[in-house]
Amino acid sequence: MNPFLLSILFLFLLGEKPLTATSIENIFPEAFKPRIMVHPKNIYGVNGYEVEKFTEEPNRNHWDTRGGKEVSCLVMHYTVVNYADTMRLFTANLPDGRVSAHYVITEEERENGVKAGVVTQIVPEEERAWHAGVSYWRGIENLNAHSIGIENVNKGFIKNKGQGQEWFPFDLDQVATLGQISAGIVKKYNIHPTNVVAHADIIPTLREDPGVLFPWGELYTKYGVGAWLTPEERQISYVSKTYLPKEPFPQGISEAFFLKCLREYGYKCPEGASSITPELRPIVKAFKAHFSHNQQPDHYTETLDETAMLWAWGLDAKYPQGKKSIK
Ligand SMILES: [Zn+2]
Repeated sequence: MNPFLLSILFLFLLGEKPLTATSIENIFPEAFKPRIMVHPKNIYGVNGYEVEKFTEEPNRNHWDTRGGKEVSCLVMHYTVVNYADTMRLFTANLPDGRVSAHYVITEEERENGVKAGVVTQIVPEEERAWHAGVSYWRGIENLNAHSIGIENVNKGFIKNKGQGQEWFPFDLDQVATLGQISAGIVKKYNIHPTNVVAHADIIPTLREDPGVLFPWGELYTKYGVGAWLTPEERQISYVSKTYLPKEPFPQGISEAFFLKCLREYGYKCPEGASSITPELRPIVKAFKAHFSHNQQPDHYTETLDETAMLWAWGLDAKYPQGKKSIK
């Protein structure tokens, strides 16, 4: 059985609690003030990923048409600000600062009476939301027209007195909702695993979200969402035998090889790049946060190591080019 169907069956057998549909007014009435342009009746929670139809004209400050493009990417974000501020930002009339996402998933905010794992839809899926910015993935500039954006309420990180960043973990209920809704989106649009991306993957010089603590491994393992390597797929011998990579794993650290793998995977690396120049360093961080050093804040650095090399090589072998196109 297809692993995706299997995971759905498991969820069914385990009696995973269904997502509830709630009007935004009931979830957080404070988000709606007279100046806000989006009518609350257009914003709904999700029930088993059946979204109620949006009936009114799009509000152009917050979404636009996809211009004939199809959904082929799913972009993950964190908000930095709390739920109420997110909703204000995403529903305010800001002609010069268009910002929105298709979905917002809450974390628990006891002080504000916000429960964890509640999903709110801001933009209909068939429309374009403003979440990705000037981005790039696999030859496509600006992913907004091609993607669905999910914002997870999370504070991101704070800078410590030293140089380190202290990250805020994601709420368990939030991750459960995120997993379910993402699995639905990936299935509905047949999104290739390598096109489930972090905001940082597609604009690494300006964005770091959803950060090194985002649960990529759990999304893959429990919900079949995104690309990942299992522990056995992190062994050179296993990858060589199973996925027949085009090239063997190189001896020692090779920046050129690493960048070539990342370029093939989808990142914006110039063809033939031979070394990690200062402009390319943020890509190393984005890759480590998503893959090789996910859940390891101490390793969230620009330094290329053998583990990152192995992941880049292994992912390219497991997910070869050809089926990954963006429409
Ligand atoms: Zn973002």
